[in-house]
Amino acid sequence: MSNFPMKKWMRQLELERNRCQSCGMPLQFDPEGGGTEADGSHSTCYCSYCYAGGQFREPELALDAMQHRVRQLMRQRNAPWYVRAYMAHRVPTLARWRGCKKR
Ligand SMILES: [Zn+2]
Repeated sequence: MSNFPMKKWMRQLELERNRCQSCGMPLQFDPEGGGTEADGSHSTCYCSYCYAGGQFREPELALDAMQHRVRQLMRQRNAPWYVRAYMAHRVPTLARWRGCKKR
């Protein structure tokens, strides 16, 4: 594994600041351009897969389930293993999960 374009990926990850604060997907990859608020405006915090009409699509989704989903999504995008690991690792740092205490 000598020629993995790790630098390119890491640089891209750094540049993608506008991320969904639920799954970590860069909003630029969201075909809808972001989730929607209750008034129909676009959310700048969450993607359309996580958020619609001012609420999470799956409010009961657990953190580990989201991490699993992120790994699957990154696999579909043919991301190398270290990017998948990095993205899954990042999920708990996103706003949706940081503020959530265990019920
Ligand atoms: Zn999302």
